[in-house]
Amino acid sequence: MKLKKLTIAFIAAISLIDTFSFNNEETQAASINTEAKKYKYSGVTYLYKMLKLEGIKYNKFPGVEYQNGKPEGIVVHETDDPGATATAHDEAIYFNREWQNIQAYVHAFVDSKQVIQMRSPDVGTWGAGQQANNRFIQVELCEEDSRDAFIKSINNDAIYIAKLLHRYDLQPDNACDDGQGTIWSHHAVSNFLGGTDHVDPDGYFEKWGYSMDQFYSLIKYYYDLQKKNTQSQSNLKDKDKYPNKTKEEIPVVQGAVTLGHDAYIYDAKGNNTKKLKYAGSPVVVMGYKMINGKKYYQIGKDQYVVASNIDATPKTVNKDTYLRTRTGEIEKQNKVKKGSRVLVYGSKITIKGQKYYALNATQYVLASDVN
Ligand SMILES: [Zn+2]
Repeated sequence: MKLKKLTIAFIAAISLIDTFSFNNEETQAASINTEAKKYKYSGVTYLYKMLKLEGIKYNKFPGVEYQNGKPEGIVVHETDDPGATATAHDEAIYFNREWQNIQAYVHAFVDSKQVIQMRSPDVGTWGAGQQANNRFIQVELCEEDSRDAFIKSINNDAIYIAKLLHRYDLQPDNACDDGQGTIWSHHAVSNFLGGTDHVDPDGYFEKWGYSMDQFYSLIKYYYDLQKKNTQSQSNLKDKDKYPNKTKEEIPVVQGAVTLGHDAYIYDAKGNNTKKLKYAGSPVVVMGYKMINGKKYYQIGKDQYVVASNIDATPKTVNKDTYLRTRTGEIEKQNKVKKGSRVLVYGSKITIKGQKYYALNATQYVLASDVN
């Protein structure tokens, strides 16, 4: 963000370190990443929850619509706000209170102790000017005053950013040298896109003998590690069987699952016992059986439910719409854009005379709004 200008003293400090680190830059930076990897991730604290605990009002930032409907990458910032009062906690409280006055807001503040997510990255914020705010997620690193704390903070920052890449299906690609890619510094936004003139986090990184390129390689390291972990957890046979389906769409074959739709229980001959299990109920699938050409899952001794109450069916939204509650009320905060894909369960249900599909136990979409 860099709300303040560099002071003369700070510039002097940088040039001293520059001279000192002329020969050691590579080793220093490499050892910073090596040391960072030994630390554990602090995890994410959500601002609204943190404020609730502290009895402070959540002053919700409205959010900027992304030009492509989703983020294209992440801008790495540094607060340029030194000192003890510049922790992620204090920055978060300050921005929550002042964003209207200072006309600035970001998605997260990160320090050595925590990652505070201010706003869902599903919407944009005001972090790096008009060219970047409707394209990228904005993440602020807070200044630390010891080397150890700095290393812990960049470790948290890199892990959080790597998770964001996975969440939005983005490949790591350093945009700092060529203005193209998913990982940007605020400096790179100023260089290649304009609309802002800040150069963070370069100066702060240099102070520790570190650079954006080194930070990018730390992000890439965690991105690859997280990818490996996800792959080893998922069932590769299913992946081979359903190459074009996401994990959610792969039919459940066995194990504990949740009913996505109210389901009648049938006996082994396909007779409806008229006993109903509600959407959201946990059931254990023991296997499946075809009864009169229809697929059922066995959930108990002589107890079966129609498989579509557990297997999701993908549908495409054919107009901008909203999700609804069980009573058909519009959920204003859950707008679904035309062209989005939703996963529905079971057959259509009727709420107040209209047909809906269930997305889960509490959310529905108008059947006429999807194909
Ligand atoms: Zn910045």
